[in-house]
Amino acid sequence: MFFSTFRYLIIIIIIIFFSYIGLIFSLEATTGSSIDGNLTTDDYVISSSGFIWPAPGYNTITSYYGYRNAPTSGAGTFHSGIDIGAPTGSKIVAAFSGTVIFIGFNGPNGYTITISDGYYTANYSHVSPYFLVYEGQNINQGELISTVGPKNVYDVPNNPYKDSAGNPTNGATTGPHLHFSLKIKGSSVNPLNYF
Ligand SMILES: [Zn+2]
Repeated sequence: MFFSTFRYLIIIIIIIFFSYIGLIFSLEATTGSSIDGNLTTDDYVISSSGFIWPAPGYNTITSYYGYRNAPTSGAGTFHSGIDIGAPTGSKIVAAFSGTVIFIGFNGPNGYTITISDGYYTANYSHVSPYFLVYEGQNINQGELISTVGPKNVYDVPNNPYKDSAGNPTNGATTGPHLHFSLKIKGSSVNPLNYF
């Protein structure tokens, strides 16, 4: 009887030991991913449409494409893109290769970079005011083009967009995020259909 119980005890200890080792390895795997916003090769998954996700490591959609209740004054009831929740400073990469056709403050979209390949045109909005690219620049897919901008910006003349405290904002926005919108030959489409 004693030896039988002892044997089960040993087996249980071995099971606990290997579960613990497995836990350590799974935690390491999590730490090695992109939850801190750093780029890893895992982030460069090309969709069936040939696109790369523009906010590596951040996959939460805080507002979908289509009709909605405007979250803040000045934001449209038709949401022309998707909002990807990500903190200020998160990396933004080009979903597809193309030419920068606009950089600047673009009304409710705030600081915006527009990239087109002649067929697809993408807006990356509420980005950092410190532009890393220039108009006319050719951009490769996956290239770092900007970072998620701050909620408040103070260098826009006559900025009509303000938060509840009266501070000027990066377009019509309630907090840092990437607004990504997509057009095909000038017509707005739901970006999520291309990832
Ligand atoms: Zn948006």
